[in-house]
Amino acid sequence: MSARPGRFVLSIDLELGWGYRDTRLDRALQRRIQAARDSLPELLSLLVSRKVRATWATVMALELEGADELFSFDEVPSVRALERGGRSGLSEQVTRLPELYFYDEFVRELRSHPEQEVGAHTLTHLVCDRATSERCATFTAELAACQEIAARSSSKLHSLVFPGNYYSSPYLQIARRAGFTCYRGDRFVSGAEPRGALSRSLGRGGRLLDAYLGPVRSSGVEVSSGLKNIPGDRFLRLEDGGFFGRAHLARVEKELKHAAETSATYHLWFHPHNLGSRENGFERLRAVLDLFAEQASAGRLLSLTMGEVAEESEPSG
Ligand SMILES: [Zn+2]
Repeated sequence: MSARPGRFVLSIDLELGWGYRDTRLDRALQRRIQAARDSLPELLSLLVSRKVRATWATVMALELEGADELFSFDEVPSVRALERGGRSGLSEQVTRLPELYFYDEFVRELRSHPEQEVGAHTLTHLVCDRATSERCATFTAELAACQEIAARSSSKLHSLVFPGNYYSSPYLQIARRAGFTCYRGDRFVSGAEPRGALSRSLGRGGRLLDAYLGPVRSSGVEVSSGLKNIPGDRFLRLEDGGFFGRAHLARVEKELKHAAETSATYHLWFHPHNLGSRENGFERLRAVLDLFAEQASAGRLLSLTMGEVAEESEPSG
């Protein structure tokens, strides 16, 4: 009997303007976000045509029609703060540039593809750094609103990606109570408290070096605070060209093969704005999908969503 195929997981942080919620959007940033928005239909059809099942970790406010509908969630402290004026003129930007903060047609389109998973990236890209009682209450309210928005499409959210990869046990417990089954966490540090952002401890230089030359990565699934961690193994660097782009692709190729040979799970992630100048970004993404297809056609790798990996892994007891 042949070995069990490895698992290839791709998650996409769908956030558009929400990913820059503490930044004043200058013209260049507005163009970058608009380009990301414009690339979404092509990105979806590419994944569908390549039979890649992705998890779209969506800032759920994107699935609303506009600011008025968002402000109707006035039980959510972060939404109330936003309506009162928010930081860096975010409230003003959300109202003035709705196309950068709302794209309900696209999220509905995603939902019409059952092999694609809509996951959550909170309601407003809430950063879960220090687990103060206030922040935890806001997180609880945001996740309830996320599930409510999904329920309007008779759907349920199972997979969560924490903004900035900040998280800790109290947040994981809240997510479990809100009906989530899995999250994209750090790769495991045995015996360590889940704390998120392990990669930050490497520092920028170490992270960059690791993107091209570091040890081969791939992971399994681990349970933490009742949620399954489908760890993100590598951020896909779609903006790198030339020597660095080739070195990164070679690294990803090695890791895909390693996952195939060891029946492991390999989890890549990126943001649509990382497609950058569109032609190059898509070309690099297609190269990665080609590498996956090579393994998949030989029965050595299977594309699954985060939710599906969580479902097939050992029950969390
Ligand atoms: Zn994000």
